[in-house]
Amino acid sequence: PLMTTDYDTIAAISTPPGVGGIAIVRLSGSEALAIAQQIYRGKDLSQVATDTINYGHIVDPQAEQREIDEVMVSVMRAPKTYTCEDVVEINCHGGLQVTNQILQLVLRNGARLAEPGEFTKRAFLNGRIDLSQSEAVMDLIEAKTDTARKAALNQLDGNLSAVIKKLRQSIVDILANVEVNIDYPEYDGAEEVTSQLMLERSEAIKAKIQSLLATAEQGKVLRDGLNTAIVGRPNVGKSSLLNRLLHEEKAIVTDVPGTTRDVLDEYVNVAGVPLHLIDTAGIHETTDQVEKIGVERSRAAIEQADLVLVVLNASEPLTAADQELLDATAHTKRIILLNKTDLPARITPSDLPDDEQTAVIKTSTVTEDGTKPLETIIAKLFFTDGISRQQTDVMVTNARHISLLQQALDALTTVISGLTAGLPVDIAQIDLQRAWELLGEITGDNYDEELMDQLFEQFCIGK
Ligand code: GDP
Ligand code: ZN
Repeated sequence: PLMTTDYDTIAAISTPPGVGGIAIVRLSGSEALAIAQQIYRGKDLSQVATDTINYGHIVDPQAEQREIDEVMVSVMRAPKTYTCEDVVEINCHGGLQVTNQILQLVLRNGARLAEPGEFTKRAFLNGRIDLSQSEAVMDLIEAKTDTARKAALNQLDGNLSAVIKKLRQSIVDILANVEVNIDYPEYDGAEEVTSQLMLERSEAIKAKIQSLLATAEQGKVLRDGLNTAIVGRPNVGKSSLLNRLLHEEKAIVTDVPGTTRDVLDEYVNVAGVPLHLIDTAGIHETTDQVEKIGVERSRAAIEQADLVLVVLNASEPLTAADQELLDATAHTKRIILLNKTDLPARITPSDLPDDEQTAVIKTSTVTEDGTKPLETIIAKLFFTDGISRQQTDVMVTNARHISLLQQALDALTTVISGLTAGLPVDIAQIDLQRAWELLGEITGDNYDEELMDQLFEQFCIGK
């Protein structure tokens, strides 16, 4: 049961900026077909069936029908469309002039330029998807590994929403019964909510929220990548190891196209974990620099890192600079790579910190030893339970969701400690209700305009 509100008709170029074989100008709203018809010479679009693609020309009605381009026009009628509104997509030739002229024509003939994410926002406002699903659209576009893509797609399918809805329903069941008990103490149809019952149910709900939050660390890694620093003295083999990793996976994903090379974020996919490499410029730096600078620079990278790969040259004795790096990473998740093990060894494990947390791997970029073990250890570090593919069914990946779940968890903890201390159910329920509201913000069942605007602003135009 979709209830489409009549918003104005919006338009945008939905393909990435730049020149391409084709580009798409998308319109959505009740006037979409009428506006398209004014600038289109071909069939009568008001008569064509839904989900058809129609050949014709775009012409300028204000300039004696001057021809702009030869196009295919897709017609998708409400309500079964991306936005639940009438949608028209003009597939034109992908030149900057063509695309912009068509957009200008559409705007001059009654459409308004869409804001970033506004098409997806319409899908939300018209009830086709909820807020967490809208956010999944963005995650899907930005997914950096196949695992991240699957997690986003599952969220788009509504798997997270379903879990949240169930949790909210179980809270409502308790709250409703409390209300009935208070308002109609004589009524037998309702379950009597004793303090014990509310306590048990709250604990069950709390446990479910905790297990959702437990997926969050992995989820965040999947989404944003794991900030990884590769540190080591000059010449120990950092670049060679990096190249090895990149070469193995061939799956480096760079961010926003069109940005300049030096601000590109580099990602390397290691066994499904997207490593976001920090300060690769530092890695590639020339080797004749003073060692001190190298170590200082590494400190900054170590501070931002979730994982540090400390590279040592195993064919030389441990130096003071090596030791400094080992000390600097003592409290960070790290893996020590003993590189150049194809050469006679000068570092023995007894030279290394005696610490069970730290894996030590022997590598050689000549024999290629160690690459596989390194991948296995990275995957194990972050997917401790060996995250199975099924577990990506429901995975909390979004910082906003994590924060709301955390707050809901706090509210439930308050309920539980209150009841345990003897608080009556009608007082304890206040925080239970609060938990219900917080969970509702995840799906957008409770939302405020400002939050929504902030969320959709992060989208690109045309989505
Ligand atoms: P970086 O300064 O730490 O980035 O070191 P590079 O990756 O530029 O390597 C420095 C030198 O060591 C180069 O000549 C590499 O060919 C060499 N090298 C790197 N890894 C190995 C290795 O595993 N074994 C040997 N024998 N040489 C290596
Ligand atoms: Zn190098």
